[in-house]
This record gives sequence, C-alpha cells and structure tokens, in this order.
Amino acid sequence: KLYNEVQELKGNIRVYCRIRPFLTGENQKSTTIDYIGEDGELVLVNPSKQGKDGRKMFKFNKVYDPAATQEEVFLDTQPLVRSVLDGYNVCIFAYGQTGSGKTYTMTGPNSPTEKEWGVNYRALNDLFHISRSRRDTFMYDVGVQMVEVYNEQVRDLLSSDGSQKRLGIVTTSQPNGLAVPEASMYPVQSTSDVMDLMQTGLANRAMSATALNERSSRSHSIVTVHVQGVDLKNGATLHGSLHLVDLAGSERVDRSEVTGDRLKETQHINKSLSALGDVIFALSQKSAHVPYRNSKLTQVLQSSLGGHAKTLMFVQINPDAGSYSETLSTLKFAERVS
Ligand code: ADP
Ligand code: MG
Repeated sequence: KLYNEVQELKGNIRVYCRIRPFLTGENQKSTTIDYIGEDGELVLVNPSKQGKDGRKMFKFNKVYDPAATQEEVFLDTQPLVRSVLDGYNVCIFAYGQTGSGKTYTMTGPNSPTEKEWGVNYRALNDLFHISRSRRDTFMYDVGVQMVEVYNEQVRDLLSSDGSQKRLGIVTTSQPNGLAVPEASMYPVQSTSDVMDLMQTGLANRAMSATALNERSSRSHSIVTVHVQGVDLKNGATLHGSLHLVDLAGSERVDRSEVTGDRLKETQHINKSLSALGDVIFALSQKSAHVPYRNSKLTQVLQSSLGGHAKTLMFVQINPDAGSYSETLSTLKFAERVS
C-alpha cells in the first residue's frame, strides 16, 4: 500500500540503491556504510568526521546490501520488465562512479554464468518466457537496438560493418516508437540471440577505443528492446519498449586537471548526467515543463521517461572509505529525484 502511494507521488519513478561488495585486495575495515534498513534506509558515515555530524541518512525505495544476488535484484525489477508486454515504455538505468558495479548490475561480470547474469539477460529471458506462455492469445515480435552516446553523439553499436556513423534522433512521437530509426534493429527469439548481439555491441564499442574500460566509463550505452504485440482475438496491436542503460561514470573530474579531448568528454558527461537529473527531477515534481532537449541522452530516452512510462534507477555505491565524497555526491543526486 505504502509502496503504491510512493509510486503515485513520484510519477512512476523508483530508486533502488545497490552497494557492491568489497573486492579481493580492498580494505574491508574502511567502509562508509554504517546501516542498511529493511525499508530502504542507509546511513553514510564521513570517515573524517566523528560523531553525529559525520552521519547522514538517506532513504530509497530499496537498498541492497553487498550480499544481494543478481536474482534478488532482478525479482524486484521483474514486474516493471513484464509491463513492457502490456505496452508500457520502461527505462532502467544504472548510475554511479566508475567501479561501483553499474555494468555488473546491468550485464554481469565478463563472461557471466547464468547465476551471474545481470538485468539485461534476465529481462530478455523473462520476456521470451512470458510471451511464449501467452502464445495462444498474443503474438509478440521482439527487436533489439544498441547504441552508445559519446561526446553528445549517438552511434550504432550493432552496424554490420562496425561503422561509427553518427545517428540522428527523432523526438516527435512515432507510430513505431523509434527514437533512433537509423540504428540497426535485429529481431531476437531467444536469450542466446541476445547474448550474441551484445557481444557484437561490446566488440564494436571496443574497436573505437584505445582502452575498453576507459571508453566504456566515458560513454552511455543503451540497449533498447522493442516489443510489438498482436492480440489474436481482435487483431489489436500494442507497442512497448525497454531501455537498459549503463551510464558513463559519474565521478567529478577536476576540470583544472584535464585538457583537450578529456576535458571535452568530461564536460559532455557532466552535461548529460545533470540533464538526466533535471528531467527526472521535473517528472518527480510533476512539473509542466520537462527539459528533455538539453542532452542527447534525454532525447534518446524521452519516450520512456515521463507520461505513462516507468523509470527505475539503480544507484550504485562503492563501499570503500576512499570513495566517500563520490558516494556522497551519488546519493545526493539520487535523493533529489527520489
Ligand atoms: P562500473 O561499471 O560501475 O564501472 P563494474 O560493474 O565494472 O563497475 O564493477 C567493478 C568491479 O566490481 C568488477 O570487477 C565487478 O565484477 C565487481 N562487482 C561489482 N558489483 C559486484 C557484485 N554485486 N558482486 C560481485 N562483484 C561485483
Ligand atoms: Mg562499467
């Protein structure tokens, strides 16, 4: 009941916070997280300030402790994913500094086992499962696009020749709902089709980068799943879409320390992440004006932010004390929109 009220108030925006575990070699004793409550509370501790002044409480729809499994996280995401088959537009994205677990949550580790699958594979797997179970009443077609937004340019990650042509965005509402119509679209019928496509996408992403990790933390990657359904009884059609977004790292790079290309990248990332924050904030306030036009990222995602669309943000936290100031700014970003 309470949960429904929260959703009502916030215009279908949910914020889940996930704290990643310490990795081998990290100092487990020096954490910033002191308390994780059942109702989505979390207490952040400033390692250089003793007492009450150094503690700050945040509250989200959910907080996952470091032991939470991929399956547990997906179970809370599943209802949202399934609503795509009923014609909803859904956007799920992961926000946080580089190394906080964004890619782990969305995709999983490199070459994941089925247990380690992230939201992407689980979501597609679930969509195929449910659509098969409805096959006597509904016929569904599923297509996938994958693009990246880098330096305010949209590029196709699934083009057959690996070309990195810049793509245009259509923001007026289209009958087929495609925001980036020129991006390659592949029909998919099984989770293994999806895994093959994602491998291609990752390889294309790497081709244009000197160092894969470097580039992947500096660009936003967006997997879009388009679902077209036909009601076999009356022929009525519906269209739903799911955007799965692994955002660029949110770390604040000191502008005085970067120059040239790196400065440009930093400015583009700051601009697009703050534009995303502004859009979600406007939606949470039910504001009449939603500033979608301020970045390519918000333009690509427009159809799945606001209106009847459902939005879920994973706020990713690195538990290490050395990440305190980044963690604080990540939590403040999330608090503003939740
Ligand atoms: P980001 O995409 O935010 O830069 P990654 O997803 O690459 O961060 O995570 C950084 C490292 O932490 C990776 O080695 C990843 O496998 C590991 N990691 C992140 N979250 C978890 C988790 N919940 N359980 C186990 N390992 C994790
Ligand atoms: Mg990543």
